[in-house]
Amino acid sequence: SNIQGKHGIYRSPRPSISLPHHPNISMLPFLFRHLSSISNSPALIDADSAQTLTFSNLKTHVSSLSCALLNLNVSKNDAVLILSPNSIRFPVAFFAVVAVGAVAIPSNPLYTAAEISKQIKDSNPKLIITVRQLYDRIKQCNLPCILLNQSASNNPMLHSYSDLIRSTPTTSFPDVMQSDAAAILYSSGTTGASKGAVLTHKNFMASALMMTSDQEANEESGNVFLCFLPMCHIFGLSALVYAQLQRGNTVVVMARYEMNAVLRAIEQYKVTHLLVVPLVVLELSKKQEKVKEYDVSTLREVMSGAAPLGKEMIEACSNIFPQAVVYQGYGMTEASGVISLENRRMFPSHPGSVGPLAPSVEAQIVDSDTMKCLSPFQKGEIWIKGPLVMKGYLNNHKATAEIIDEEGWLHTGDVGYFDDEGRLYIVDRVKELIKYKGFQVAPSELEDLLLTHPEIVDAAVIGLGDAEAGEIPIAYVVTSSMSSLTAQQVQQYIAQQVAPFRRLRRVIFTREIPRSPIGKILRKELRQQSVAKL
Ligand code: AMP
Repeated sequence: SNIQGKHGIYRSPRPSISLPHHPNISMLPFLFRHLSSISNSPALIDADSAQTLTFSNLKTHVSSLSCALLNLNVSKNDAVLILSPNSIRFPVAFFAVVAVGAVAIPSNPLYTAAEISKQIKDSNPKLIITVRQLYDRIKQCNLPCILLNQSASNNPMLHSYSDLIRSTPTTSFPDVMQSDAAAILYSSGTTGASKGAVLTHKNFMASALMMTSDQEANEESGNVFLCFLPMCHIFGLSALVYAQLQRGNTVVVMARYEMNAVLRAIEQYKVTHLLVVPLVVLELSKKQEKVKEYDVSTLREVMSGAAPLGKEMIEACSNIFPQAVVYQGYGMTEASGVISLENRRMFPSHPGSVGPLAPSVEAQIVDSDTMKCLSPFQKGEIWIKGPLVMKGYLNNHKATAEIIDEEGWLHTGDVGYFDDEGRLYIVDRVKELIKYKGFQVAPSELEDLLLTHPEIVDAAVIGLGDAEAGEIPIAYVVTSSMSSLTAQQVQQYIAQQVAPFRRLRRVIFTREIPRSPIGKILRKELRQQSVAKL
């Protein structure tokens, strides 16, 4: 077929992206390349307070904060942890870090102190940017901090954002190249515990152009995006914040997702685009009556990602927003955001598909037994290649080599197929990952925690399908012979140590965990058991 070229490689039907030729045009110069024509348009708006940063304000704040970082001895390649809920200051902080060639480590504000300290140990940041409310969670690391929402303090280790951005930029900036690391986002990849995916400036720039290529093709500008997706995740950070701002679009920022506030913001700011996870679509489709109370007629696109969106949900959502197209994208942290996305206006769509490949992405569908490249409609592991593929995992050659092969193909751990018109479908996952409401849960990390309990001798964690959350983490547990441990006690033991989205939703006691001869948990077998029984 014509969409599958020589050697069985699928190519994107979209025109290829072109990155700036100069290797030193990195994320920030690229972000502001059209500044003169948009300097007074709103870049970031706080949905609650309506406080606005124009593109010109954004640039000034970023320059001031990056000088402040240099003065605080943050140098090129140093890591800076960002632990904050969404706010219009989050992107300023992120851009200031990458502007000086330092590497941003966005951490999840839902994490416990123990989970954050693990990330800190792994990434070794020189400084932390956080908010007053979360300071307690990182206090014990004794690192200098910038508090985004607090003015003046007597503590010499604590700096305030508002003081720092008032300083005038003076210092000269280090040279930052497209090949330099920009951010490290934690992901468990296809197996094991979570690892730092190192993403370069080029990855972010490429991903931004891919994400917005259809807007480019339609010569769209001045779109308004609502952002409640967490900025600490690749979907919010890359596909939404960076991609849309570099396109000159406005990003309206919400600290947390709440349905009424979302509807109010759509009306107030004349929002044109929503980027959502399936749970949001589900909730919207259940609240038809509520939606009718607001003027949502400006909304033109609702794009869902991070987990599968069913056909029924697409239909329900399209009924609520008849003037908007509802579609899906497929992405992954290790691929800097988006791998494929639908576009009903440009390519005939098919419910359930995650659309044609993003520009400049190549893919193969590979049979895991024969390692042969498969034809349309045949299911296999999705491998991808392109400028979106991460540099590798931080200090972990072994894990990097397991996910990116010698030819540069990223083995996604997702199972899918292409149809004969180049649309991709995701049908399963061969990797261990569980996704709860779009958030990553690494089974092996929960298993390790379970095994630290004195009465637990073996454990396996798998995902069980769930209508609301997509999947829920459940555990099979083998206890020692004298143990009187209850399921509730096991759940509590884990709940004390992990972010709410990583909690075990069910515990099943069993005599034995099925394992392969070399001791690998046979997750597929457990999944089949659980589907049959639960
Ligand atoms: P993350 O790195 O947290 O973005 O998780 C990436 C994983 O989420 C992918 O490898 C898929 O397993 C899953 N995923 C993302 N988008 C979709 C989608 N539209 N449909 C099905 N699975 C998805």
